[in-house]
Amino acid sequence: MARIFCVANQKGGVGKTTTTVNLAAGLAAQGQRTLLVDLDPQGNATMGSGVDKRDLKASVYQVLLGLANVESARQKSEAAGYDVLPANRELAGAEVELVEMDEREKRLKEALAAVDAQYDFVLIDCPPSLSMLTLNGLCAAHGVIIPMQCEYFALEGLSDLVNTIKRVHAHMNPDLKIIGLLRVMFDPRMTLSQQVSQQLEDHFGDKVFKAVIPRNVRLAEAPSYGLPGVTFDPASRGAQAYIDFAREMIERIKTI
Ligand code: ATP
Ligand code: MG
Repeated sequence: MARIFCVANQKGGVGKTTTTVNLAAGLAAQGQRTLLVDLDPQGNATMGSGVDKRDLKASVYQVLLGLANVESARQKSEAAGYDVLPANRELAGAEVELVEMDEREKRLKEALAAVDAQYDFVLIDCPPSLSMLTLNGLCAAHGVIIPMQCEYFALEGLSDLVNTIKRVHAHMNPDLKIIGLLRVMFDPRMTLSQQVSQQLEDHFGDKVFKAVIPRNVRLAEAPSYGLPGVTFDPASRGAQAYIDFAREMIERIKTI
């Protein structure tokens, strides 16, 4: 059975996509059969996995609307070693079109059931909103990974996300849990980073992952080559941190 995780935070630019593609590549490098689902109309995880979003025969959009299945829409990220259910701008329309459908928040869950036995991990890259798309991600998942920057406003908005997760848990998906908070773009030279990091540990205890992802330019450069940082430059500090994170996830799922 596949373990399904959403990478979510309604704040923009906090490192969701970087986390999703690098965790996928890190898991694949350790022999885990992994599917990345791009649920963001920006299609950044698609492009960052080396799949051209301008040239898709089918995407997650058709899958959500029941016009294609996962097996026909997915593609292989050859270099990075995982599969991608890609997205592009078309997906923005799904928000409106889903409104008319039955069980509209469960469309992704139903579609993924058909490939469940083929994967160890399914990772869902969510858009920066608490929209119907994110709701589909949360309804399909066993858990949520929340990437956070250790800066002054980091905790602002976290309660909205936590409340949404609680609501989904109570009414739509009793399996859903917060798996953990991941500190990303971490700069150990900044006192503020250290302080916020400490606050997170005090507040959330072992819900804070041990792996800490540093700010590292190789991670930011990799998408322009259509590769996750873990594949582009495995020796870089950023890649090494994501490989540690992948190992931590493999350990963590044994306890959930
Ligand atoms: P959005 O909300 O728009 O989907 P996001 O949360 O997915 O954004 P990313 O796209 O992963 O965030 O990251 C935002 C920017 O920060 C990107 O340019 C990315 O390359 C860069 N970035 C992410 N993580 C790191 C890191 N650890 N070190 C350096 N740059 C990073
Ligand atoms: Mg993103």
